[in-house]
Amino acid sequence: MEKENISKTGEGNRESFRDRIATVDESGKRKWVFAQKPKGKLYNIRTYVSWSFFLLFFSLPFIEVNGQPLFLFNVVKAKFILFGKVFWPQDFFIFGLGMLTFIVFIVLFTAAFGRLFCGWVCPQTIFMEMFFRKIEYFIEGDAAQQKMLAKAPWTGSKIFKKVSKHIIFYICSFIIANFFLSYIIGVKELWKIITEPVTQHIGGFLSLAVFSGVFYAVYAFFREQVCTVICPYGRLQGVLLDKNSMIVAYDYQRGEPRGKFNKKVERIQGDCIDCFQCVKVCPTGIDIRNGTQMECVGCTACIDACNAIMDKINKPLGLIRYASELGIEKKEKLQYTGRMKLYTVLLGVLVTVLAFLLVTRKEVDTTIMRTPGMLYQERGTDSVSNLYNIKVANKTTNSIPLQLKLENVSGQIEIIGGHSVQVKEQGEGTGSFFIVLPRSIIHERKTLLKIGIYSNNKKIDVISTNFLGPVQ
Ligand code: SF4
Ligand code: SF4
Repeated sequence: MEKENISKTGEGNRESFRDRIATVDESGKRKWVFAQKPKGKLYNIRTYVSWSFFLLFFSLPFIEVNGQPLFLFNVVKAKFILFGKVFWPQDFFIFGLGMLTFIVFIVLFTAAFGRLFCGWVCPQTIFMEMFFRKIEYFIEGDAAQQKMLAKAPWTGSKIFKKVSKHIIFYICSFIIANFFLSYIIGVKELWKIITEPVTQHIGGFLSLAVFSGVFYAVYAFFREQVCTVICPYGRLQGVLLDKNSMIVAYDYQRGEPRGKFNKKVERIQGDCIDCFQCVKVCPTGIDIRNGTQMECVGCTACIDACNAIMDKINKPLGLIRYASELGIEKKEKLQYTGRMKLYTVLLGVLVTVLAFLLVTRKEVDTTIMRTPGMLYQERGTDSVSNLYNIKVANKTTNSIPLQLKLENVSGQIEIIGGHSVQVKEQGEGTGSFFIVLPRSIIHERKTLLKIGIYSNNKKIDVISTNFLGPVQ
């Protein structure tokens, strides 16, 4: 019997999984997944990872740097704060590069490590499997009890369980929505929405209602459909993964031909005893033995389930494990291949470049231009002046006065209306100034000038511009 193709091994039509996604029946109706509670080493580690995630998710909005949130993603006002640094539309270049880095990162990471992100740190998986699913297990019991409850008539006990589950789900969704909103507008604004009259924050209240409704709908009803139907990253797996990518995989070389376990009969089949434990724990309802599937979020629940079975029947663990398709085909263990190392180095370089750009980003963006339509002004017999406009974007959280100095020639700068250009915190300042040069240093029609921008006597930038003058 052939071992490499699972579809040739068993009874019935095993190719039928290709006809539709696992959670839809022949008539096109949704098949509800009653996922059995996973148990095992990987599930325990994922639980610890999820605790760290929750700690970060619920605490980050409260962390401030110089009175600013550590992170803020205010898409409405186009204001973004990363690690306490304010980013404005002027930082579009960094954003563009950041997005590009992010996309390349995702492509490389997925090509090397598959859906490691989805299974271990994606907020959807973590909230669904480590939070809402656990509440559901607590109220309705494990998968078998949930199935029975779903089929049972609407008794008082069923109504109590269902109603209390949905109330708790909604309250939790509402709390998550509040925190989610705090990443967009900040905790201080959120606090105002919570404490001040609704009429003053109609937009905020509507956002909260929409987010709460969406989260509730996702975790109470849509669930795995978000990963299989909506998530663009999930939909891209087909093009991002290849035969060398690390995936959660069933070792068909070892497992096939599958057959039921019988203690009394000497086993001549492969190691898979067709117990369906890997299918029962799968939150997306698939059978990993059918090979790599778009619906697999790499949650590792099937690895734990199968390992428990292998342990019971005294077979080596890892019939389902992290592996590559090629590795299973060639019967090789998963290795940290040269390709993975190369991708890791590339990922490191990309992250370093982005970090460098973030760290070295200018806090004050200055643009200086000669006033359009004006040439030069004669100042007596020995000097010439040019009029300039200055525009300053202050990305810091402090108001700053800016002084200007000529760096490469001797001359004077006369700021109109004062000695400095005042720029409010997180705001833009404009001004005009004359540069006055002695005729003796003007030898060409255009003289290149370097203007130093100083804040509190500290040079923060140097801007180059031209000075127009009469040719001697
Ligand atoms: S849990 Fe393991 S032994 Fe059981 S059906 Fe799945 S692959 Fe086969
Ligand atoms: S096949 Fe396994 S790893 Fe993939 S989603 Fe199902 S249980 Fe998780």
